[in-house]
Amino acid sequence: MQRMKSFEKEQPSLYLVATPIGNLEELTPRAIEVLKNVDVIAAEDTRNTVKLLSHFDIKTHLISHHEYNEQQSAQGILDLLNDGKCVALVSDAGYPCISDPGAWLVKQVSEAGYPVIPISGPNACLTALVASGIDPQPFIFYGFLDAKESMRTKQLYDLVTYPFTMVFYESPHRITKTLSSMLEVLGDRKICLARELTKLHEEFIRGNISEVIEISDTLKGEMVIVVEGYKEKEKPVTMNMLESKVNEYIASGMSAKDAIKSVAKEFNVSKNEVYKHFHNA
Ligand code: SAM
Repeated sequence: MQRMKSFEKEQPSLYLVATPIGNLEELTPRAIEVLKNVDVIAAEDTRNTVKLLSHFDIKTHLISHHEYNEQQSAQGILDLLNDGKCVALVSDAGYPCISDPGAWLVKQVSEAGYPVIPISGPNACLTALVASGIDPQPFIFYGFLDAKESMRTKQLYDLVTYPFTMVFYESPHRITKTLSSMLEVLGDRKICLARELTKLHEEFIRGNISEVIEISDTLKGEMVIVVEGYKEKEKPVTMNMLESKVNEYIASGMSAKDAIKSVAKEFNVSKNEVYKHFHNA
């Protein structure tokens, strides 16, 4: 067990500073203060962070902390802390560590006994969720689904009977493919597609997946998809779902018998029903 007070004494610390997801006015006064006062700012992309810093006249020394150099640069940041320096970590937008680099660093720094201090602020997931009109609680944040269709479908099958609201990140060039996978696997659920949050063209598109797909090719900008959870009465489990799941388990090394048994239990249907369908398919 480790107990770590953030503000008990002055000591080298790692600050995780949330930055705007669009509207620069959302950089908090506290965040500005921290970014001005730390010795070094580690940024996901220094070219983007330079723009933010110059807008707020922040002149702190910048270093890079990108996904591809995360382990190496974590060691560099630990060396700075060992030298008595304070470091702030920022990503291009929102919170570090949330679909952005930082988690590895946080683990290393906390294990080394230094405080990790979050400076709260904007985040695309929560901003979309609270305005979505879909049950905000309980929810899970999934982040990005896989870019490969087969993997994405598999990931969605794992969520098919998940009863909580789900929040996904997606890029505009993959949105139609992702919504099609969702329609195929999850059925025609209610969603809210929130795009360009906090920016001039902010928009919330609320409807069933099949409705949103009709216009998704025309949508630009950054987007979050909020999807309602599985509702037992509204969307019965289909035989295709069961069959895909059985096949997935067999592909992962299970015997057909065990796969059928597991799927029947998972989807709360009778083993015989799965067995009959699987062997007649
Ligand atoms: N760290 C960020 C956070 O805390 O939200 C997320 C970074 S992730 C690399 C980028 C994704 O977040 C985008 O592809 C999009 O799905 C979502 N996103 C970021 N800014 C957004 C915005 N202004 N409007 C809608 N979605 C946004």
